[in-house]
Amino acid sequence: MYSWSGDTSDWYGSEGYDFDPAHKAAREREAARAGAAGPRTYEAKGRPLEALVDPRRTVACSSTTPIIVAVDVTGSMASWPAEIFDRLPLLYMTLHQYRPELEICFAAIGDARYDQWPLQVTGFAKGYDLEQQLKALYGEGGGGDGPEGYGLFAWYMLHRVSIPNAAEPPFLIVYGDAPMHETVHGKEIEKVCGVPGQDQSAIELWQAVAKKYNTWFLRRPTGSAGDEVDQQWFRALGPQQVARVHDEARAIDYALGIVARSWGRFEDFKQNMAARHAKEKVDDLARRIVEDVKPRVLHCPSCMAGLPPTAFGRWVCEYCKATLDL
Ligand SMILES: [Zn+2]
Repeated sequence: MYSWSGDTSDWYGSEGYDFDPAHKAAREREAARAGAAGPRTYEAKGRPLEALVDPRRTVACSSTTPIIVAVDVTGSMASWPAEIFDRLPLLYMTLHQYRPELEICFAAIGDARYDQWPLQVTGFAKGYDLEQQLKALYGEGGGGDGPEGYGLFAWYMLHRVSIPNAAEPPFLIVYGDAPMHETVHGKEIEKVCGVPGQDQSAIELWQAVAKKYNTWFLRRPTGSAGDEVDQQWFRALGPQQVARVHDEARAIDYALGIVARSWGRFEDFKQNMAARHAKEKVDDLARRIVEDVKPRVLHCPSCMAGLPPTAFGRWVCEYCKATLDL
């Protein structure tokens, strides 16, 4: 359904939507490259393309707008890289029109105690190049029956990822459904990432990550509110950064909605979604994001001036006069 062309004529929602004409040439360039490669497919494979996702290397992004999307690929979440692949042009093209500097890095999180590939991290990329990166990930589907190795990924984000030009704390979206091992062992760091490390608290690592990144744990609709998974992630990120995805089919829309709202483009996101879904679904998700998830919009996305806590809906920044949709 989704292509790199930006053609929305086959979207089956009740409303129309056109991507920003200002970036039409860029979309056509990516569509031509994608077209030359043939139909979009996600082949099943038995291993990652290790050269592109090797956790023993560092990754860097010189863009002002890096975003990291990480997925727990243990157990039944192994298919999530494929699900994201399906919606990748939508994810990238929607956010690209809000922030053209956007570059995305993907990560697959497993468990160093059980898995052959417990951590896979792609480089940052944009446009059609993201397909190759995302395809390099392998949803191993392993893990133990319980806590997973999210802490090792937090260590990686702190020590092996550099984002020197980020204009504000970048979004780091983590999709998962499990708690984490409380301790990241030095020997795991050494085995998986190839550098010496000490035993560290996974919660403390995430607390440090949350200072540097606008970090969200988007939880699958499993378990119950306030259970062990929630409690641990509340401690790691703060309760306001943990959100429950009520319907797995809307997982990407949650991320799009949270980012769009924080960037003052929530109205455009709602139009985008209305071109893909019935109005009730759009209204329901928009309400959940505004009332339950409540992404904080602290700064004017145009001039970075602080916004008053009362800023809501259509809002004109009193400094740069930009019109924001919050
Ligand atoms: Zn402003």
